[in-house]
Amino acid sequence: MPELPEVETTRRGVREALVGRTVAAFDLREPRLRWHVDAALAGTLTGQRILDVRRRAKYLLIDLERGSLIAHLGMSGSLRVMPQGSPRLLHDHYDLVLDSGQCLRFNDPRRFGSLLWCVGNPAEHPLLANLGPEPLEDGLTATYLATRARRRKAAVKLFLMDQRIVVGVGNIYASEALYRAGVRPRRAAGRIKAAEWQRIVDSVRAVLGEAIRQGGTTLRDYVNADGTPGYFRQQLYVYERAGEPCRRCRTPIRHLVQGQRSTYYCPECQQ
Ligand SMILES: [Zn+2]
Repeated sequence: MPELPEVETTRRGVREALVGRTVAAFDLREPRLRWHVDAALAGTLTGQRILDVRRRAKYLLIDLERGSLIAHLGMSGSLRVMPQGSPRLLHDHYDLVLDSGQCLRFNDPRRFGSLLWCVGNPAEHPLLANLGPEPLEDGLTATYLATRARRRKAAVKLFLMDQRIVVGVGNIYASEALYRAGVRPRRAAGRIKAAEWQRIVDSVRAVLGEAIRQGGTTLRDYVNADGTPGYFRQQLYVYERAGEPCRRCRTPIRHLVQGQRSTYYCPECQQ
């Protein structure tokens, strides 16, 4: 599943080809994505210039002159820039055709992705309005997390994965960050100490930053915006390593299920 690093990698990969270009056409082949894509979007978009390509959480925001497209990759989606008229593959659902002769093409086998048109500030769109701070920006601090966690009994791993608290900390990254921070994933968020929150913030930033630098990660065959694969797996310390020796202390990594998601941790390195 594309996580924040994949979306950020996509943004960096497509931005240069899009900004400053004018939409020449919008070719919608499959409107049945997570939410129905309006065929009238073609008329809305055509002729508008693209001003910027931003990201908020796992949403790509393509700012045009009269509004913004809010694109989500869903469970299996990818967005790539390619020459207009490139052979269409199964699961290619829309092309945003540019006046450069290139297009932004969306492929998504499972069709959980989405594309919405938003007039006005996309930050106020219902999908985005209640999201927590970006993990790689200044809004995420140890003090902020400690304040939000006060009296919360929720496990710290689930707390970190709550998009209303902080966005973009998916299942892999939550396990990895807590390992690096030395914090057990089942501890109550309200019992985490200030110094531990600081280590958690530093670790979240480190694991996400490393993934972005490597061009995004998933455990399947994710492709970057330029068509090259992005992998991170060799850098993982605990994720999907149940029973294997901890890279630091050789204790077997343990597995447990929290909120129907797998969690991995070292019982020796994490307290
Ligand atoms: Zn260990």
